[in-house]
Amino acid sequence: MRLENKVIIVTGGANGIGRRYCQRMVAEGARVLIADIDLDAAMELEAELNADKDEPCARALRVDVTSEENTAEMAQVAIDAFGRIDVLVNNAGTYPHVEFDDITYDAWRKVITINLDSMYLCSKAVLPQMKKQGGGKIINVATDLVWVGLPGMVHYISAKSGVIGFTRSLAREMGEHNITVNAMAPGAVIPQIDNLSKIARIRIDSIVGHQALKRPLQAEDLVGPMVFLCSADSNFISGQILSVDGGLTNH
Ligand code: NAD
Repeated sequence: MRLENKVIIVTGGANGIGRRYCQRMVAEGARVLIADIDLDAAMELEAELNADKDEPCARALRVDVTSEENTAEMAQVAIDAFGRIDVLVNNAGTYPHVEFDDITYDAWRKVITINLDSMYLCSKAVLPQMKKQGGGKIINVATDLVWVGLPGMVHYISAKSGVIGFTRSLAREMGEHNITVNAMAPGAVIPQIDNLSKIARIRIDSIVGHQALKRPLQAEDLVGPMVFLCSADSNFISGQILSVDGGLTNH
């Protein structure tokens, strides 16, 4: 119960890795606000997490993390539902593969807005409450691709590189309020599919071959580090980027 009574907002918490974070957070005693543009999936997860509980420990809310109005409402709903905000996990993101020549300016702006502007908006929304409480934690999800780059993802990796600067600078400004700001930089989660194409298999073998640990990364590998960053065990860590990629990169 490392997160007992902690109130955590997880953006993009309804699907993918964010869903895993929410499930483990509740198992560790937290109450979570699942803030996602996909309300159906968020409500399904809310029902799953609240089943057999005496008091609700999950609340789903439709939030577009690129909307100032929605993100302000997100903070207010967390306070109304659970009384406080201990942790914000800026997890919502999008990562389309498009060659640079084919990235239109509209597509560029969309990817930068969802992956980077969202961090500004969500942080701005929760910080007044964290300051009032005398502390809090913000965890921003980046990618380990910021250390090496990758063709076909210039817009995505540019936005996530911005997340690194955002994390380090905001950490320095918020320290005096006992608010820590850190980032996690995951490697690529490798789907467990038997009939992968030959090209996909070659790419995965190449990634794993360059890792220190010789097995593909699974979503579950990211959950423990996220719980650590949300928990009191990381109280004296701020402005750091934790790469979770089996030792593929060294930062
Ligand atoms: P996913 O696509 O499975 O889930 C993303 C979630 O974000 C979805 O629930 C989606 O509805 C939500 N979302 C998208 N746009 C939104 C918006 N505007 N407002 C609110 N919610 C929105 O993604 P994932 O693979 O679980 O990735 C989660 C995070 O981890 C992302 O930030 C991603 O960049 C990062 N990441 C993923 C990997 C990977 O291999 N999957 C690797 C490194 C980093």
